[in-house]
Amino acid sequence: AKQGGRSTFRFFESAMDEQMQARRRLEIDLRRALALREFTLFYQPQFNLASRKVTGFEALLRWRSESRGMVPPAEFIPLAEEIGLISPIGEWVIRTACREAAGWADNLSVAVNVSAVQFRSRTLLSTIVSALAESGLAPNRLELEITESVLLEDLGAATSLLNSVREMGVRVSMDDFGTGYSSLSYLRSFPFDKIKIDQSFVRAGDQDPGAAAIVRAIAALGQSLGMTVTAEGVETDDQFANVLAVGCTDVQGYAISRPMPADQIAAFLTSSPRD
Ligand code: C2E
Ligand code: CA
Ligand code: CA
Ligand code: CA
Repeated sequence: AKQGGRSTFRFFESAMDEQMQARRRLEIDLRRALALREFTLFYQPQFNLASRKVTGFEALLRWRSESRGMVPPAEFIPLAEEIGLISPIGEWVIRTACREAAGWADNLSVAVNVSAVQFRSRTLLSTIVSALAESGLAPNRLELEITESVLLEDLGAATSLLNSVREMGVRVSMDDFGTGYSSLSYLRSFPFDKIKIDQSFVRAGDQDPGAAAIVRAIAALGQSLGMTVTAEGVETDDQFANVLAVGCTDVQGYAISRPMPADQIAAFLTSSPRD
C-alpha cells in the first residue's frame, strides 16, 4: 500500500508539473499575441424585438494563435487577467471596436466587454475617451458590458468611474444577469441602461418552468425600471418565441446569428434577419 501511495503521489506530482508547464507555454504565447496581431474581434448582432431590426453588435475577442489555432476567450482571458495582460488587451479591444464601429451606419452601436481587473487600472477612462476621439464614434454608440464582479470589489470606485463614462453618453449594461449573488442590489447602485439575462436561464426556459419564470420576472423588472432587457443565448425558434412572449426587448444568440468577422457585417445586414 505504501508503495502504491508513493507512485500515486508521483503521478499527481508529474500531472501538476505538466499542468504548470502547459500554463507557462500558454503565458509565453499570450504575451506575444498582441505584438503579433493575433487578436481579432468577432461581432454578434443584437436584435430589437419591437422594431425587428439589428440595433448593434457585441464585440467578442478571438485569438488566432499561430501555433494553437483559434483559442476561445474562456481559455485565455482568466490567465490574461492573472498576469496583468488584460489591460493592454482590453485597451486594444476598445480602440478596435470603436474604430470598426465608426465605419458602420450611424444607428448601429457596439458593445464591449470590460473585466473587473480593467476597472482596477486607472487608465480605463482615458482609454475610452481617446478611443472615441480617435475613431470619431459618437459616445452614445458605445456600450460597456460589465458583470457584477466589477462592482463587487470596490463599489464606490466602480460606480464613480461608471458615472463618468455615462455622463459622456456611453451606455452601460449588466451582463450575465441573475448568475451573481447580488444582481438585484447592484441595480440600485447604478442606473444601468440594459440588463442581459444570462444564457443559462434563457436556454433552460424551454424545459424548466422555474427558469422560464425567472426570465419573465427579469423582463418585468427591467421594464418597470425603464431598462432594455436582452435575452442572451437564444438558439431556437421556441426560445425566440418565449423571450418575445415574456416581454424581453432584445435578443442575442445563434437564432439571429453567430458572432462574425467584421468584414461579414455589411452582407449580414442586407440579408435582413427575421423580417
Ligand atoms: P459573454 O460576454 O457572456 O458573451 C456571450 C458568449 O456567448 C460569447 O461567447 C458568444 O459567442 C456566446 N453565444 C452567443 N450566442 C449564443 C448562443 O445562442 N448559443 C451559445 N451556445 N453561445 C452563444 P465567447 O465569444 O466564447 O465569449 C465568452 C466570454 O468571454 C464572454 O461571455 C465574455 O465574458 C468573455 N469575453 C469575450 N470577449 C471579451 C473581451 O473583449 N474582453 C473581456 N474582458 N471578456 C471578453
Ligand atoms: Ca457580454
Ligand atoms: Ca453574457
Ligand atoms: Ca460571461
